[in-house]
Amino acid sequence: MLINFSDTATAFRNKSNFELRKSYVLFSTLAKPWVVQVGKVLSEFAFKTHLPVKGLIKSTVFNQFCGGESIEDCSDSIDGLIGVGVASILDYSVEGKESENDFDRTKNTVVHSIEYASKKTGVPLAVFKPTGMGRFALLEKKSLGHQLNEKEQAEWQRVVGRFREIAQAAHDFNIPVMVDAEESWIQQAVDDLVEQLMMEFNKERVIILNTIQFYRHDRLEYLQRALVHAENNGYFLGVKIVRGAYMEKERARAEEMGYPDPIQPDKASSDRDYDAGIRLLMENIQRVNFVCGTHNEASSQLLVSLMSEYGIDPGDRRIWFAQLYGMSDHISFNLAAAGYNVVKYLPFGPVKDVMPYLIRRAEENTSVRGQTGRELGLIKAELRRRKQEKHQPATLPS
Ligand SMILES: Cc1cc2nc3c(=O)[nH]c(=O)nc-3n(C[C@H](O)[C@H](O)[C@H](O)COP(=O)(O)OP(=O)(O)OC[C@H]3O[C@@H](n4cnc5c(N)ncnc54)[C@H](O)[C@@H]3O)c2cc1C
Repeated sequence: MLINFSDTATAFRNKSNFELRKSYVLFSTLAKPWVVQVGKVLSEFAFKTHLPVKGLIKSTVFNQFCGGESIEDCSDSIDGLIGVGVASILDYSVEGKESENDFDRTKNTVVHSIEYASKKTGVPLAVFKPTGMGRFALLEKKSLGHQLNEKEQAEWQRVVGRFREIAQAAHDFNIPVMVDAEESWIQQAVDDLVEQLMMEFNKERVIILNTIQFYRHDRLEYLQRALVHAENNGYFLGVKIVRGAYMEKERARAEEMGYPDPIQPDKASSDRDYDAGIRLLMENIQRVNFVCGTHNEASSQLLVSLMSEYGIDPGDRRIWFAQLYGMSDHISFNLAAAGYNVVKYLPFGPVKDVMPYLIRRAEENTSVRGQTGRELGLIKAELRRRKQEKHQPATLPS
């Protein structure tokens, strides 16, 4: 089975000409790295000094990449997506909070998103970020295996409690939850905790999923070990696989602190391990549920081909394709049209608080990173196609 990712009529079927042109202007603007850098500094300054920029941000980048400011705000976007066969994951994208009250609030929001998902058509999974549940420095210390003092131990127990409460809600409402991956130097603590929760909650079905970043050169081996661990301990392994979003930061820190770079030497190596990961998961599909989080056409096609080779139905709920809202609709919508399970991360949160997420998306979409060229090319092709279609002479009924 070959998916035609160039079918722009399917890719943009839920977008009007006006919306397409708006996205075109936005992606053209983001293509200029200096605009993104200036925008980043200006928006930080504007929010600090209470300048009225919210409206401008909301009608541009926020609307392109986010579902709304609250869970309920996302309802229309969820309905719009499921109307064309694409599901949503509510992603509370508030970052950079560090107080216990903030962590509790984030945990409550995630639990609420799970309950909401159980009642709303088109929201089959949930997600959260480890740094939304506990202090970065604590996750780092725990990952290094350093002894925690008494206060930190109590703090760590609260982090474990928040993870567990979310897993319990995921279990009770039957909405599996994914744990995002962030920087490598806090990942060990997250891997250990999620593994523990999988042993507890994934006995009969997958309730909690960890994330594996294949831009790390040690992760294929980690996946092999995780599969053996699941087999030996009688639980189902849940994973989301991605390439990884923090490459520059990872490389810079490794160089600055003088330890070996945890990232693959080049893009081809990340691609090779990502695809090897897909193959390994397919070989073990009896024990696995997985989410293939990528905007890469070749990896998405590889999974499609393997599913057909293994005789797995496109709609088999053990396998999901995932993309981010506002990006790579040509992958999401064409896969969904062919009957595959597709889900979009639908970020939400107050405009000011989702700025770090929006800046990451903006940076990812500069011409340097290469994603924009593809988005722009596809939008242009679709606008051209619609224009030609309009000027086609009407065919006479036979
Ligand atoms: C649904 C979804 C969920 C996600 N969740 C997470 C998450 O939890 N944690 C996270 O970190 N990221 C996450 N991401 C982002 C993801 O890791 C990638 O940054 C992004 O998707 C781009 O990679 P790609 O597979 O789409 O494709 P591509 O565009 O083919 O690959 C780009 C990626 O390749 C890698 N790469 C690029 N150049 C090099 C190089 N020179 N050397 C080595 N590697 C290189 C980098 O990882 C880069 O992001 C998620 C993405 C999606 C779609």
